[in-house]
Amino acid sequence: MSRSPQPLVYIVSAPSGSGKSTLVKKLLGVVPDLDFSISYTTRAPRGVEQNGKQYHFINRQQFEEMIAADQFLEHADVFGNYYGTARQFLEEAEQKGHDLLLDIDVQGAAQIKRKLPEAISIFILPPNRATLEYRLRNRGEDSEEVIQRRLVTASREIENYDKYDYILINDRLDESCEKLCAIVLAERRRRSGQRSRGEDDKYSQVADSCRLSKVREKVQPILASFSVPASSARS
Ligand code: 5GP
Repeated sequence: MSRSPQPLVYIVSAPSGSGKSTLVKKLLGVVPDLDFSISYTTRAPRGVEQNGKQYHFINRQQFEEMIAADQFLEHADVFGNYYGTARQFLEEAEQKGHDLLLDIDVQGAAQIKRKLPEAISIFILPPNRATLEYRLRNRGEDSEEVIQRRLVTASREIENYDKYDYILINDRLDESCEKLCAIVLAERRRRSGQRSRGEDDKYSQVADSCRLSKVREKVQPILASFSVPASSARS
């Protein structure tokens, strides 16, 4: 497949517990030439996390020095900690002829879309609130208080679903993974300007079925389960 000269930037956002990390990991294992932007954060490492792998862990002063030096494409305060995407990753992807995947929150996604309007944004939704609550409890990472806070935050994030190009309802993991790969590959094909063939048509069809305009009806019961009024979503 011939490549577009500029890296394609894919943004993936989702409420905590939606299965985003698993999907992103699977995607990176399947799609070639797609780099993951390792964010900088001031939050402390959790569990098996290693510096430079999931995140670059730095302190607030270091983060503020990076802001002052204009080293971030975007940065935001999430749950009281700084998180940011370094420009360096986009430059490196460009040098390698790779595309770049950003796993960032809704504030960061909005900033990237302003700076890079061509970026492709994907919002991952849980099938409903009860499933998200079950997943958060089942992974056994958080206290009850944290689970309740994550659920409130999830509702606020979900209100922004219609600012994204694609919506992925993560009900069955394998199916969602196929859809995510299809979106990435279909966009590559589309932006390369090449005509599609056999397999590409299949990707395009699957990707199209996840476009915001195609899923508006389907997301209504999900919004309702989070008490997000349909009217809060822009038409
Ligand atoms: P966690 O601390 O659970 O890994 O991530 C918390 C939230 O921060 C997630 O929604 C994640 O997508 C978001 N996040 C991670 N890196 C960045 C970043 O570089 N910029 C922004 N804006 N959000 C980020």
